[in-house]
Amino acid sequence: MGSINIIPIGSGSTGNCIYIEIEDHHFLVDMGIGMRKVRDTLNGHGRDLAGIEAIFLTHSHSDHIKAAQAIANNTSCPVYGDASHMYNIRNIKADRSIIDAYADTDINGLTVRMFYVPHDFVKTCGYTFATKNRKVGFVTDCGLMSDTILEELSGSDVVIIESNHDVEMLKNGPYPKDLQRRILSKYGHLSNDDCAATIARLYETGTRNFILAHISLNNNTRDVAYETTAKVMKGKEISLYTCPEEGRDLLTY
Ligand SMILES: [Zn+2]
Ligand SMILES: [Zn+2]
Repeated sequence: MGSINIIPIGSGSTGNCIYIEIEDHHFLVDMGIGMRKVRDTLNGHGRDLAGIEAIFLTHSHSDHIKAAQAIANNTSCPVYGDASHMYNIRNIKADRSIIDAYADTDINGLTVRMFYVPHDFVKTCGYTFATKNRKVGFVTDCGLMSDTILEELSGSDVVIIESNHDVEMLKNGPYPKDLQRRILSKYGHLSNDDCAATIARLYETGTRNFILAHISLNNNTRDVAYETTAKVMKGKEISLYTCPEEGRDLLTY
């Protein structure tokens, strides 16, 4: 059974780009981090932009696509996503491929499933990526967890999941009330409590490895996010990693 390697190059409102390797498949999710940083981070771990075989998009908020042109033009791989994402990256040279939600898409032997998540951008997506032996689930920018999303993620070896804000820190924090309401709404972001509750349910499906992502700089800390889930999962054997805004760690599962 081959390994899963993940480098959370960027995660949060500054920019998002996560490198994932499952057995012999190498790909990126989102392109919201500058090309140089992505290239240097990959090179630091003996990887290369040229070795990437696919890039997947979750949605078109700028923290997820702002480096699309630079990154896509420095790889020769296609960019995959929902049709609604493609207009906003129409200037890139790479092939743009639309994939269907709730269906298995085979990309060189990697089985990809895309599903929709509620967020304030049209057709925001989560993904699962699987080989015969290993499966990774990915869901950020998700205002509300649902049974459908849980079902898609179930049985993953690793789940990368949003733990965006601490509700009290958000309510007492610097954001104006309308922005607070947006983040708290079902089209906003997943709170630490919702993330922890989701992880408890995913644990029941066999998932033991969790990467907390898209952690707010203003309404959360990595420690608070970690502690919220750790408290709910007390006594259970899991691995829990919290993504920094910009990272260089290589996580192996
Ligand atoms: Zn985002
Ligand atoms: Zn977003």
